[in-house]
Amino acid sequence: MNVYDSDRMSGLLESQGYQLEKDIRKADVVLINTCSIRDKSEHKVLSLLGELRPLKQKNPNKVFGITGCVGQRMGRTLLQRVPHLDLVMGPDAIDRIGGLVGTVLNEGKRVLDVNFDADRKKTYSQPSVVHRAKPSEFLTIMKGCDHFCTYCIVPFTRGREKSRPIAEVISDVRSFVEKGTREITFLGQNINTYGKGTSESLAQLIEQADQIEGLERIRYVTSHPRDLGEDLMAQFGHVSKLCPALHLPFQSGSDSVLKAMSRLYTQSQYLEKIERLRHYCPEIALSADIIVGFPGETDADFKETLKVLAEVEFAGVFMFKYSPRPGTRAVSYEDEVPESVKDERLYQAQALVHSILDRQNRALIGSKTHVLIESLDKKGKCFTGRNPHGKIVHVFNAGMACVGKTIEVEITEANGSNLRGFYVGAPRTIREDGSLSSPSVSQAPN
Ligand code: SAH
Ligand code: SF4
Repeated sequence: MNVYDSDRMSGLLESQGYQLEKDIRKADVVLINTCSIRDKSEHKVLSLLGELRPLKQKNPNKVFGITGCVGQRMGRTLLQRVPHLDLVMGPDAIDRIGGLVGTVLNEGKRVLDVNFDADRKKTYSQPSVVHRAKPSEFLTIMKGCDHFCTYCIVPFTRGREKSRPIAEVISDVRSFVEKGTREITFLGQNINTYGKGTSESLAQLIEQADQIEGLERIRYVTSHPRDLGEDLMAQFGHVSKLCPALHLPFQSGSDSVLKAMSRLYTQSQYLEKIERLRHYCPEIALSADIIVGFPGETDADFKETLKVLAEVEFAGVFMFKYSPRPGTRAVSYEDEVPESVKDERLYQAQALVHSILDRQNRALIGSKTHVLIESLDKKGKCFTGRNPHGKIVHVFNAGMACVGKTIEVEITEANGSNLRGFYVGAPRTIREDGSLSSPSVSQAPN
């Protein structure tokens, strides 16, 4: 979501005549988009601000701004604590960014905008910003969250759920596709309830997006196990562009921890959803988030989390140590788990997940898969993209003509969570210098 928000902010500023400058030393305006989901990410922001102070001392006209959830949460305190900061704004101020930066630059004022959308409407509109269209793009379709899981800061920093109208979202998807995008990932903190309070729903949006010519793949994040209805699960069986992959965080396998987290489902209800999903789409790749060391989590509770990890065999799991967040209910929960125990549990969960992933990935060697090539990797050695299951695949003999195209790839190597392979439509020729040759344009797919 923050990648998307950053893209939107740079797009909005570009439409007002600013240019993107990635070198912090050269930029006139430096905006740091932030996350406050865990304590650690907030510390990183504060230490980065400290590191940047010499740049402000050298050039007092350089503008520094904090955007995103840390801005929203800390607001005025941040301006008071960091004298070289000129702008602090929250996620709901993104559409006003041009005016806010303008006020700092033209009037020399320090600016704070942490205002939420104050009305009680269930819908909102967002100006379309489709300035660059990568092969795979994110698109926010709603904001906020109404759930209030007891550990989570999102409802406080991003407000209540509001959805964009389907017509507006579809129009953005079309604009992206016209510019070359082939895969769209719809974003929302609690995306299954998209359209809540209106006559529209996520299932309807997906059906309409499926009709868009030129769009090849649809994904969405993040689902909540309680809100993932039968209609949405069934779509994995019959909507052709919907990728066979779903991120469905379960956070903990223990019913008592789930209750204390206010997640509103039990382990067996979660596993039932997994069964339904596999019923509709046997090949579906499932991923999840877990939190270890929630207050009161016993060894027996944690074993239940390991049990779910072992049973479901996810294709990817994001694993976090519980981090108390100010203002959330869990902050006042007693029986905190010692840091060393959290570390040990995280280590155990990671070891289990990695061994499952390793086995899964090695089983793919020799198989063929379709990869939407997104870019040349940073080292310039291979091309990178994802297969329909969301696995990252590095392709050695692809060429620039393949970027934005879906190509058939034979998997030849599995290295940890990375898959490597060769484009089957081009020779695997090795040049004299040892590098692989790229396919000619005529060998690129249509
Ligand atoms: N809306 C999504 C994602 C929320 S944040 C959802 O409901 O799943 C992404 C992940 O961060 C969560 O799934 C959770 O695993 C983790 N997380 C959120 N708050 C946390 C906290 N206080 N400590 C540790 N992990 C947290
Ligand atoms: Fe946070 Fe997700 Fe729970 Fe909403 S559903 S409160 S975003 S963890």
